[in-house]
Amino acid sequence: MPEPYKRELPSPSAERVADLQRRLGYAPPAQVLTAALRDVFPGRIAVVSSFGAESAVLLHLVAALDPATPVLFVDTGRHFVETLEYRDRLVAHLGLSGLRSVGPTAEEVARLDADASRAVWDPDGCCAFRKVAPLERALVPFDAWITGRKRFQAATRADLPVFEADGVHIKVNPLASWSAADIADYVARHHLPPHPLAAQGFASIGCAPCTTAARFGEDQRAGRWRGFEKTECGIHRPTAPPTGK
Ligand code: SF4
Repeated sequence: MPEPYKRELPSPSAERVADLQRRLGYAPPAQVLTAALRDVFPGRIAVVSSFGAESAVLLHLVAALDPATPVLFVDTGRHFVETLEYRDRLVAHLGLSGLRSVGPTAEEVARLDADASRAVWDPDGCCAFRKVAPLERALVPFDAWITGRKRFQAATRADLPVFEADGVHIKVNPLASWSAADIADYVARHHLPPHPLAAQGFASIGCAPCTTAARFGEDQRAGRWRGFEKTECGIHRPTAPPTGK
């Protein structure tokens, strides 16, 4: 069984992350992405996308700069079929040529969740082998990765910086400051196709067993792991206020 790859490399220095945050932390998303893809991490950066309700915005911005940018999708084996269809439709629509679907091995699934019930009794363990470990393996060739997270999505993301250290990687969050209205406006202006489940009230879309529609007045991510304390899959953690401001 492939184990998560641990690189014997130092974490990016706090000074480097703080410098990026100072120089680009308040720039528009297109400027952040241009710098990240072309100047700061050329050939060493990937987008990680869930192909969820708002993923089209980041992918559209990236496709406009370089449609061959690697796009990592963690196929946990528990996604809605609508998400898999949307992934393929969006990739074709945007002309993205760097999609890499990664996930747990068949051996891991058979050994760790043979009856596909683990999400019910151990969601942390389920996310660890279905999401976190496959992504860790897929990120080995890269120095940095780009996410579509926004501050407005949840109280736990309220302090999200544009640049943050993440183990041996730097994580880039170009849309951090965008509001729900900014996202909706961008989608409308560029006629981006919606996720099929968005019309059913799914504001944040993850795996099928762990996603419910958000209720009126709730955080966008309130429908994820409903009934559990869990708020993140382990790929992302609640953010601390950034340094270097
Ligand atoms: S979101 Fe749910 S089904 Fe998906 S990996 Fe995590 S616990 Fe498992």
